[in-house]
Amino acid sequence: LVGRLQPFAETIFAEMSALAARHDAINLGQGFPDTDGPASMLSAAQEAIATGHNQYPPGIGVAALREAVSEQQARDYGLQYDPDTQVLITVGATEAIAGAVLGLVEPGREVIMIEPYYDAYAATVALAGAVRRTAGLVPDGDGFRLDLDALRAAFTSNTAAVIVNSPHNPTGTVLTDDELAEIARLCIAHDVVAITDEVYEHLVFGERTHRSLATFDGMAERTLRISSAAKTFHVTGWKVGWISGPADLVAAARGAKQYLSYVGSGPFQPAVALALRTESAWVADQTRDLARRQVALSAALADAGFGVHSTDGTYFVLADPRPLGYTDGAALCRALPARVGVAAVPASAFVDPAPGHDRANPQWDHLVRFAFCKQDDVIVEAARRLRTLA
Ligand code: PMP
Ligand code: GLN
Repeated sequence: LVGRLQPFAETIFAEMSALAARHDAINLGQGFPDTDGPASMLSAAQEAIATGHNQYPPGIGVAALREAVSEQQARDYGLQYDPDTQVLITVGATEAIAGAVLGLVEPGREVIMIEPYYDAYAATVALAGAVRRTAGLVPDGDGFRLDLDALRAAFTSNTAAVIVNSPHNPTGTVLTDDELAEIARLCIAHDVVAITDEVYEHLVFGERTHRSLATFDGMAERTLRISSAAKTFHVTGWKVGWISGPADLVAAARGAKQYLSYVGSGPFQPAVALALRTESAWVADQTRDLARRQVALSAALADAGFGVHSTDGTYFVLADPRPLGYTDGAALCRALPARVGVAAVPASAFVDPAPGHDRANPQWDHLVRFAFCKQDDVIVEAARRLRTLA
């Protein structure tokens, strides 16, 4: 790769999906479901195409979708957003993140993110000419908690924004109310904007619930809340996402979005609006299925000899291959498709290199992320293949 993004090279998801395809492996690397979303939503998109909704939609997004996004947030979180000024439809959550950072963060300012972080955050902060600072998750029982001391230390007089991803990719951690309250306190004390990536907001298992940072006192007026249809409705290929927040912050993101994509694609937007309005039972069923698949894949990984971290939400489980004799997660992921016909992604793709090293710090370097958003028989076959690793 040449040019400004040289340090970021090809995304890990593209690299591992290509490797999976080459070896005809089961792709548990890139997070995408292998079944379609609700039938009514699929028909609505076909209908929109068949009835001539094929020219540029409004830059801010189709009104029906902005209204549905606003209603969903009122229903689920008691958050009130004016669909005309406080909601912006984007090309997936990815463009929402880029629009928020490019629209709001001046070159040289700092953006804090939780490490491990979704790869787009670091690349987007680099595109903005801003500086990435991280606060890590640390092991806590079978799962992880946010290192609040590291978070407090990451805030400086130069901090412009903090990106908060919960439910968290790649660990499956759902931040607790206490952790969110401390993030809120710090944002207010330092007068910093929060950009919340809540794309897995509905995919939370068992007793855990997801709370939006914007619901904490003093936060609605400084939070850009991001979500997407991709994971909720099994349409990662549709690229329909959204931002909601105070009108001035949404306008800043919209300013950047105008010159990133101008508008999103039209016919998918009314379809996603319909799904947000009418398919919450489908989403609840799907989350129950996912919870079952999380248990099945975690058991299969343990059976194959991995150490397995707990997961409270998302599509993902982190596994520790050291009991099998592997200490380098990236090397294992490069070998897995050819060796056993399964693809995964290394946690090291979501963290900074250890100071002075190419490799990630030892807390993450060995860990491997597997996606369980796959049909039961696919998980059974992946389990069979993984057992041949020992
Ligand atoms: N944020 C996180 C944490 C993700 O895992 C993903 C991948 N779906 C995205 C953002 C990107 O979402 P979209 O596909 O809607 O752009
Ligand atoms: N969000 C998905 C993941 O974490 C895939 C994203 C991508 O391919 N860029 O696996």
